[in-house]
Amino acid sequence: MSVRKIIQRGDPVLNKKAHPVTSFDEKLHALLDEMKETLDRADGVGLAAPQLGLLRRVVLVIDTNDDNKPIELVNPRIIASSGEERGVEGCLSVAGLYGYVTRPTEVTVEAQDRYGETFTVTGTGLTARCFCHELDHLEGHLFVELTDQLYTSEEIDELEAEKNGKKREKRGRRAKKG
Ligand code: ZN
Repeated sequence: MSVRKIIQRGDPVLNKKAHPVTSFDEKLHALLDEMKETLDRADGVGLAAPQLGLLRRVVLVIDTNDDNKPIELVNPRIIASSGEERGVEGCLSVAGLYGYVTRPTEVTVEAQDRYGETFTVTGTGLTARCFCHELDHLEGHLFVELTDQLYTSEEIDELEAEKNGKKREKRGRRAKKG
């Protein structure tokens, strides 16, 4: 396994649509393993293959509601969503900047696993947000298109602290990057 470089905003590969996966072979498994290692190292909660420069419909999401279990999604699509929640979002491809994005509170995704087996998975809260964020990457979209202002991590921490009545919040910003 190896860690790959995460492509940053401005690189045109991040604005391209990814192609469906048709071979569930060793190459796919190696990619998923590399994505896991890269995401671990970057301390993020989600990663899409285009962020590594590969236009494949492959996504990895860390389920923060379930012991940080990694969820591998190949050819994923959202089949149901409900609710609405405005929350802080960041991206490993938009280093150091955050914004408020409105996403559904619950999202169900249908995808294939690394062996081509179809399954569905439902996520709530941060996991639902992450599903939406990562699937947007497969369409060539970044969260910055969905927010009217970007903030530094200090600014967003301050805004969140104000929102929470100046109560000290555990510094979780870094962990929300996808
Ligand atoms: Zn992202």
